[in-house]
Amino acid sequence: MQRAFLFVALALCVPGVATQGAPPTPATWKAHRLWDAWPRARVSPADPWGLKHAGLRVALGDLQARHPGLFSIVEEGLSSEGRQIPVLRLGSGSTGVLLWSQMHGDEPTATSALLDVLNWLGASRADAAVQKLLANLTLWIVPMLNPDGAERARRWNAQEIDINRDAMRLSTPEGRFLKAVRDRVQPLIGYNLHNQNPNLLAGKAGSQVAISLLSVPGDEDLSETRGTRRTKQLAVKIQRLVTVFATGRISRYDMDYTARAFGDSMTRWGTATLLVETGGWAGPDEAQRLVQLNFVALVGSLMALADGSIDAINSQDYALIPLNLRDSLTTLVVRNARLTGGRGLPPFTADLSFVVPGAFADETMRYREPAIKEVGDLSYARGLTEVDATGMLAVPWPMPGPAEDWPALRESLRARGLVEVDEAKLLAAVRALGEAAVARPGYTGAVLLYRAGSAGTLMLEGAVARGRVLGEKLVTATEIPTAPVR
Ligand SMILES: [Zn+2]
Repeated sequence: MQRAFLFVALALCVPGVATQGAPPTPATWKAHRLWDAWPRARVSPADPWGLKHAGLRVALGDLQARHPGLFSIVEEGLSSEGRQIPVLRLGSGSTGVLLWSQMHGDEPTATSALLDVLNWLGASRADAAVQKLLANLTLWIVPMLNPDGAERARRWNAQEIDINRDAMRLSTPEGRFLKAVRDRVQPLIGYNLHNQNPNLLAGKAGSQVAISLLSVPGDEDLSETRGTRRTKQLAVKIQRLVTVFATGRISRYDMDYTARAFGDSMTRWGTATLLVETGGWAGPDEAQRLVQLNFVALVGSLMALADGSIDAINSQDYALIPLNLRDSLTTLVVRNARLTGGRGLPPFTADLSFVVPGAFADETMRYREPAIKEVGDLSYARGLTEVDATGMLAVPWPMPGPAEDWPALRESLRARGLVEVDEAKLLAAVRALGEAAVARPGYTGAVLLYRAGSAGTLMLEGAVARGRVLGEKLVTATEIPTAPVR
């Protein structure tokens, strides 16, 4: 869904005024100040997926020119296809922090956030809290570990290997490089920055997950060490920072120890790693909102690490963060319809869920295009959009033309006398379509929705197709984006 945002060339998005104006002076940057600072600090593109290797290099060059001496590119690895993988160093403190983003090529949200973080740190160097951050921490930043995957908007590198499962074998040049950087700089803390399936809930009572956090274990027993306590504290810190902007949308990532994964291996090697997974936020400005949350999470947690306030956080509170809940959230749910179809069965009551395949959603890989996910009692499930079809007859109907062309669909039905129709005639028409009109998992056609009209006729009210609602009359409920609470 994030791909719907228009690509805008990075160069056009670098606001020349971003660094103008004196930065606010208080030493303690609260979450609201960071949230409010982001629009001015922002140099990242409107569409994080549009930022490729070449755009990243331009952006880093611009940032170096704008903020001389803020960071240096200390070395560059080479990807499988020979693209440079820059490593940035900034700060001079004794606590090393290694942040790497986009080891999965199609997971770019944090890469954009890191550019904004760099610009903001550069513009705010007079601020005492920023000075403390740069004095107490040394940040090593790998903004795009998998440039070949980014080029193709694919998870894997050019060898088609998941770099995040290559920490032990090290068959990938990208994985070898990341390991070599870690071994050389021996950072205390790692930030492993990803995007996750956007269709997850933050626990049963929560909303769509915007950010998911994991204190990555270093062994099978999930032993608690000084390092994992620290990353639990960082996770709690991030939850507290961003929860006001994303109430009910912060979760704990649900995964056990995976020896060949990089985060787990980093922790095992002595760099306690925090996994930060960006999810989704259905609605306008989704991509930007998620970048902004990442910005607050990254800067705020690093500041807490730098000024020592992280020590005051009880690592036990980590367990209170709700777990990712999988398989409950889907794109669209139609509730309580009376369903018929081409098999001639008598209409029965059913809910229908629809899924639109995501870029990095493993669970939906089997769906290559928008389709019905499930039919039946879906009271457990929630849709990003919901249609209450109580009292309506739902009729599967193959799309006659281009997907989502509601006027064309309605006209073709009008031509057949099926807009205002008697039920027996409608049931006969759909029965004639046979297996082409059966609502079943994987079905990619439309589902027409009819409401009972006067004199026993049915009136075409709308339809759902391709995971979308067609027709103005259908009443939908959508998760309302949570506005920042003041
Ligand atoms: Zn990932």
